[in-house]
Amino acid sequence: MIPDRFHCFVVRRDLSGNITSKIEEHRRAALPPGEVLLRVRYSSLNYKDALAATGHPGIAKTFPHVPGIDAAGTVLESLDPRFQAGDEVLATGHEWGVERWGGWSEYLSCPADWLVRLPAGLSLLDAMTLGTAGFTAAQCVQALLHHQINPDRGNLVVTGATGGVGSLAVMLLHKLGFRVIAVSGKPNQTDWLRSIGAAEVAGRDLLHEVKSKPLQSAQFAGGIDTVGGSMLATLCKMIMHRGCVACCGMAGGSELNLTVFPFILRGLTLSGIDSAWCPQEERMHLWNLLATQWRLPQLEATRTLIELSALPELIRRMQQSENVGRVVVDLGANV
Ligand code: NDP
Repeated sequence: MIPDRFHCFVVRRDLSGNITSKIEEHRRAALPPGEVLLRVRYSSLNYKDALAATGHPGIAKTFPHVPGIDAAGTVLESLDPRFQAGDEVLATGHEWGVERWGGWSEYLSCPADWLVRLPAGLSLLDAMTLGTAGFTAAQCVQALLHHQINPDRGNLVVTGATGGVGSLAVMLLHKLGFRVIAVSGKPNQTDWLRSIGAAEVAGRDLLHEVKSKPLQSAQFAGGIDTVGGSMLATLCKMIMHRGCVACCGMAGGSELNLTVFPFILRGLTLSGIDSAWCPQEERMHLWNLLATQWRLPQLEATRTLIELSALPELIRRMQQSENVGRVVVDLGANV
């Protein structure tokens, strides 16, 4: 039974355009229509959530707004025959926490097509430790494998390595036998990056851009880039023949200033990753991999577990690039 009132994290914009956010109490009638009603157990904090929670115009377009692009919980009611009360499910991407009421809420109403049944072998907590970040890292790894990048080809680079996507990409590549060079702006996290699987840790200046050069010394078989901008451009210039870079982020910039030479002289593949609208069949396949062959043994090493009330501070830290690993939001067991 859904209680008379429940809690959610609401972002509001006043007539002057000022953004405020706080935990509010709402009634069931406030939830948008949906075929499946969920009791959310865990959500998480992603880069996109931090933008939504601070009113970034490219993300949150209507107010009031409940962020949270991830949610995992238990079905309470379902009008769709694919789901029954008691089923454990997860939801990532689509329009959660962007155009639609998101996972920073004790209850969520959902289109059934946007839900994934929790794969056997993953707990709700593990699913949200992965969340959009882990799912995106998995898509990046899949893209590298698809382009014949295997551990014999050479070292791989992961940028933004202490971030959510970055740290899970390091862990996943390490598990699959790759030698990973983790690029990070946090020298004090070197030991931690090694502990989760980095063979080497380098500062961001490893990818220092030499603007006059269309190509730089070819050193890496490929990479996973969460940063964009000049670091991605330089990484592309440093990839060996027929290598591949999976491009998923823009934590350092959205521009990409490159010539065609990495592509036409070295056969580089730049593989774009979009986790939000990943087709459902591929989405389920990757989640099943994350629960089986790609199951990460030390997920707790990357997890900080918080309550809704701690979100403003963790959002601030994320926007200052101070967070390490994943922030998981605990929505409580019983309400
Ligand atoms: P996090 O904030 O957890 O991680 C970002 C990391 O990037 C930071 O920890 C930091 O790592 C590095 N970084 C931050 N600012 C800069 C900068 N100015 N220059 C260089 N490096 C920087 O974010 P997420 O892991 O959640 O997301 C990472 C990126 O991936 C975001 O741009 C996000 O939008 C994108 N993303 C895209 C998805 C898709 O479907 N395409 C899905 C999920 C995320 P360090 O200090 O170690 O260098």
